[in-house]
Amino acid sequence: MAETLKKRSEIPAELTWDTSRLFKSSKELMAALEDFKNLTAEIEKDYKGKLTTPEAINGCLDKYNEWNIEADHLFNYVELNVSVDYTNGEAQKEQAIVMSEFSKALSTVSFIDSELAVAPKDVIEEAIKTATVGKHYLEDVERQRPHRLTPETEAALAALTETIRAPYTIYETSKLADIQFPDFEVNGENHPLGYSLFEDNYEYERNTDIRRAAFDAFSKKIREYLYTTATVYGSHVRTEKTISELRKYDSVIDSLLFEQKVTREMYDRQIDLIMEKLAPHMRKYARLLKEAHGLDKMTYADLKITMDPDYDPHVTIEESKKYIIDGLSIMGDEYKEMLETAYRERWVDFAQNIGKSTGGFCASPYQKGSYILLSWNDRMSDVFTLAHELGHAGHFAACGKAQSALDVEVSNYVVEAPSTINELLMAEYLKEKSGDDKRFRRWVLASQISNTYYHNFVTHLLEAAYQREVYKLVDKGEAVPAETLNEIYKNVLKKFWGDEVELTEGCELTWMRQPHYYMGLYSYSYSASLTIATQVMKRIRKEGQPAVDDWKKTLAAGGTVAPVDFAKMAGVDVTSDAALLDTIDYIGGIIDEIEELNKELA
Ligand SMILES: [Zn+2]
Repeated sequence: MAETLKKRSEIPAELTWDTSRLFKSSKELMAALEDFKNLTAEIEKDYKGKLTTPEAINGCLDKYNEWNIEADHLFNYVELNVSVDYTNGEAQKEQAIVMSEFSKALSTVSFIDSELAVAPKDVIEEAIKTATVGKHYLEDVERQRPHRLTPETEAALAALTETIRAPYTIYETSKLADIQFPDFEVNGENHPLGYSLFEDNYEYERNTDIRRAAFDAFSKKIREYLYTTATVYGSHVRTEKTISELRKYDSVIDSLLFEQKVTREMYDRQIDLIMEKLAPHMRKYARLLKEAHGLDKMTYADLKITMDPDYDPHVTIEESKKYIIDGLSIMGDEYKEMLETAYRERWVDFAQNIGKSTGGFCASPYQKGSYILLSWNDRMSDVFTLAHELGHAGHFAACGKAQSALDVEVSNYVVEAPSTINELLMAEYLKEKSGDDKRFRRWVLASQISNTYYHNFVTHLLEAAYQREVYKLVDKGEAVPAETLNEIYKNVLKKFWGDEVELTEGCELTWMRQPHYYMGLYSYSYSASLTIATQVMKRIRKEGQPAVDDWKKTLAAGGTVAPVDFAKMAGVDVTSDAALLDTIDYIGGIIDEIEELNKELA
């Protein structure tokens, strides 16, 4: 565990991803950058001031599509190289060069959006009919029309982008650069503390004294930033309110949902039903955790501990391949081939080295396969993380193949469905394989709750419930001072956990920890994606091939369908309560089975 980290240069190639699929050398990168600059100039020369006919619009979009692909490859290449080694000066230099050209180019081609915005309706409609690429891109231009301001106002708002984003930047800077946590002491022993140390380690710490003391020390420290954070956040939501009024939306919530192509009813449903119907199941789960750990009481600081901390199945990278391929092979030969390619062509960066970014992500440059960043710890939980990220890879492989680069962006509401369904399929596969090994089976079930569902249906959903209350006040023109934010958060927690969990002092500050609040309505969408994923997983398990075929078609649709239609293509109706209620039942069933196994294993 306490192995010292290696330098990136000492890591064997097979543990790293292969960015040469994008560019083979710095020379190749620079040549591509030159091409990109030329293409930018060509688009400007041929089309600026001329987007007034369907022919010109579509000619321009053809080039703009190419431009997006080139930009996507350049941008990803430099970002990927930096993300695996922040100490790599060469990579940073390349990144700086590319990014500087990229922002210049971005401002050059910005005329496309502004000219399309003022093009007459009939011209856009005709262009949509004859478009070879970016048909849905144009439809979106049309959809935005009622909310568009005069060209001068749009330009003024665009010029203020950095100012409008300032709250988020200030929030992140204070969180990542300013806050210094002091050590905390437990029974005469000192423990270091930090933001990610707390969220990634101490919240899961099995020693109750250390875990609770860490929560206490963490809360005390962030409380020192309470008023600044509330002011920054308040200014962010008031800006959103102002913009939503300028753009003539009925409310902030409506303006944010418009971008996601989601109705108010769909949004409210996720929050209301989960708050009411999932809560009893999660309270039971909290009770089971308390019993399993022999705790005096269940507190807010104890909720992240695992059911069976002594049991931690190990898996090597080589072994992971079998799990991943067998576990997800239900998705068919084409999908299996993609998984094999991912291992063979080194899509995954497994390494742990100095300067590598933490956490995990999947980047999918257009039609070039994916890049998955992980930190492999030889744990079965890593297999779930990998399955999740490969879900994103599979999604973008499918829609990248079927759609133009202008039409691959998908709504938040569905974006985590292809990833979480892989976690679920993997869990079902492992349960099937567990045979008589009850402890392993319980481990899988408990992982489903503590990872997959807790994260998406509890952590982020409670954030969403809080966020909705904040926006309601903002929509009424009321202020949201720190005390109000604390009170709203605490009330949400009280409503969800009831008397089952003691709300430790500091729980009310949880809203201070989440950058999502600066990104619109993000938090609720995790549960929406996972609702679709759960329903499709159940369909695939039950119906087999027809359900797989539907899912594959859905994945290929990319940004060409709105969330309701995305779900419908996959055989799920998200316009009524049924899918979500059934998903909550599924979660309840897992918790009931954990209870049974706890008894049997006691
Ligand atoms: Zn994801």
